[in-house]
Amino acid sequence: MESIYQQIISRNPGEPEFHQALYEVLETLTPVLERHPEYHEQKIIERLCEPERQIIFRVPWEDDDGQIHINRGFRVGFNSSLGPYKGGLRFHPSVTLGTIKFLAFEQTFKNALTGLPIGSGKGGSDFDPKGKSDREVMRFCQSFMTSLYRHIGESTDVPAGDIGVGAREIGYLFGQYKRITQRYEAGVITGKSPGWGGTLIRKKSTGYGAVFFCEDMLRAVHGEELKDKIALVSGSGNVATYAMEKLRASGAKVIACSDSGGVIIDQNGIDVDAIIRIKEVERQRIYTYLDSHPDAEYIENGNIWDIPCDIAMPCATQNELEAEDAQKLVDNGCLAVCEGANMPSTPEAIKILQKNNVAFAPGKAANAGGVASSALEMQLNATHSSSYEYSEDRLHEIMNHIHKTCCQTAEEFGEPHNYVLGANIAGFRRVANAMLAFGL
Ligand code: GLU
Repeated sequence: MESIYQQIISRNPGEPEFHQALYEVLETLTPVLERHPEYHEQKIIERLCEPERQIIFRVPWEDDDGQIHINRGFRVGFNSSLGPYKGGLRFHPSVTLGTIKFLAFEQTFKNALTGLPIGSGKGGSDFDPKGKSDREVMRFCQSFMTSLYRHIGESTDVPAGDIGVGAREIGYLFGQYKRITQRYEAGVITGKSPGWGGTLIRKKSTGYGAVFFCEDMLRAVHGEELKDKIALVSGSGNVATYAMEKLRASGAKVIACSDSGGVIIDQNGIDVDAIIRIKEVERQRIYTYLDSHPDAEYIENGNIWDIPCDIAMPCATQNELEAEDAQKLVDNGCLAVCEGANMPSTPEAIKILQKNNVAFAPGKAANAGGVASSALEMQLNATHSSSYEYSEDRLHEIMNHIHKTCCQTAEEFGEPHNYVLGANIAGFRRVANAMLAFGL
């Protein structure tokens, strides 16, 4: 496996996050390849690690002062064995082709684990929506879609949101697609508002789903419930917000959250409605939480993982939880780490947690509720349904199913409660079997 990995990374230089994601998957697949020589003979690993297509385009746009800016747009279609390419768009200055490839690769296993008919993809831009006016964001989204529209479609490639892309951006993107193509093809993008083809639960699905997974894992590994547990949730975006809401509803107490500027600690429990107002309505930084909650504390550039807790949910971004953080969590008696973001823990951190019996859920399993909900939105759109609701119970069922699949697979391969191994092998098998069936 090591030599296959070396071969692949030498073809993809300068993409450390993609290499990290590859390594994390490949190091767990040896036992499944030993059982299935046909995967090896048909070079399934090599094929699976090469994206089917990678599109890079120029995105010119004009700011409110009439200045012209040029950003770069990406869309990677990683694997379409199980359905159209499916995955979000990330708008953040750190975005490169390597970032998008890592995210699209992760999506391959995540989407397969949902059991729904979706392939994998991801896209985005190095555009920074922070500090931009609504009209600047609109002009950027219109320019982005003017290049992207020819590559997407409800049976080809279905984008959605990710960091920096929420309901506002999805609206502008879909509006431009409709304007250019003259087609009301609602299933071409997901995460739409419920008023025009979206579902009520989509925006809550990733956070809620991660908490459902965490609950199952806590029970399975430690025989414990969420009730009365102290939780930390990093981030304050869509995933973090709704993870906090569901943790609170499950009886846990979330005492801290964060943004890239610092950490808010509120021993009374974070007021989620205030976070929603600050982030979604006012589009402000979280230190403004202190204006309405003077008892809370703000630590500029603080490290959330220093705070003692029972449950840690990294819901911000990749590699935000490092080895020293993992050690701190272990020393403070943390029971479970459940990833709401994509690859937020470094490989060294994961090893420390696993070695010390902290239940660990990788993002590709725990945060799959978002994309699962998107797949249900696609189904509603495909039937031209006028009802844009399905119940939270359906999301709960899907997350229970993913949890069970990971557990059973880990057990089958002799490593009970190794959710990393369970998620990777279960996701891989589903995609690999479809690839084998389709021939070369
Ligand atoms: N960006 C989300 C993820 O990381 C959701 C993607 C989607 O709904 O297509 O899974």
